[in-house]
Amino acid sequence: AIQLDKVNKWYGSMHVLRDISLQVATGERVVVCGPSGSGKSTMIRCINRLEQHQEGRILVDGTELTDDVRSLDAIRREVGMVFQSFNLFPHLTILENCTLAPIWVRRMPKKDAEELAMEYLRRVKIPEQAKKYPGQLSGGQQQRVAIARALCMKPKIMLFDEPTSALDPEMIKEVLDTMVGLAEDGMTMVVVTHEMGFAQQVADRVVFMDRGEVVEQGPPEQVFNRPSTDRLKLFLSQIL
Ligand code: ATP
Ligand code: MG
Repeated sequence: AIQLDKVNKWYGSMHVLRDISLQVATGERVVVCGPSGSGKSTMIRCINRLEQHQEGRILVDGTELTDDVRSLDAIRREVGMVFQSFNLFPHLTILENCTLAPIWVRRMPKKDAEELAMEYLRRVKIPEQAKKYPGQLSGGQQQRVAIARALCMKPKIMLFDEPTSALDPEMIKEVLDTMVGLAEDGMTMVVVTHEMGFAQQVADRVVFMDRGEVVEQGPPEQVFNRPSTDRLKLFLSQIL
């Protein structure tokens, strides 16, 4: 579970997160949407402490995010993240990309890490690519590797930041299908995306952010069909 209580963050004098309060229950799927610059990436990067907030509290599975190294380690192990740009290590094979963290962070024996990685590569339907390098794969395949790599750490929570927005249209579906599968398995997920079909299919809740604030949230059907603020109406008119 994730809990944000009145989280505020500034970059210099720019106030980018304004009193963000948000709860994500275990097993819940939350989709975050909103205009460019509204703070979506900053918010989810604060959840795994790639960024630090300055005011308020963030708790992940009951552990408050502070400068304490132990809490940071715990968070990084429990929270997987997938980015818009796949961020694979180009000089490592697909298999090595997947086994790196389990071996070095989880201290897993290499053989076990490889078995685990192959299991997840099968799950994202690209086991045959294990010996290749990222540059030899399509964008959609690379993003599925990034998902498998995150899953190899056995995270309790998965964060996605626009995982399909760098992909060609024909590759979007294969990545979304992988994410739908994860959702069906009960993974706790926070997904920044403007893929409305995905949101409608899997989101328990859609959170709309604008200018650093959570402006509206609710079930997808309510947020998309019955927006109550002008800001959300304007946003929907621009993306639909
Ligand atoms: P997009 O849809 O374009 O990805 P976003 O909702 O993810 O936008 P953020 O990336 O969270 O928005 O950015 C929120 C605000 O913070 C923006 O005004 C952005 O310019 C600013 N910002 C983001 N990262 C930094 C940084 N490292 N240093 C300074 N300002 C930043
Ligand atoms: Mg962003």
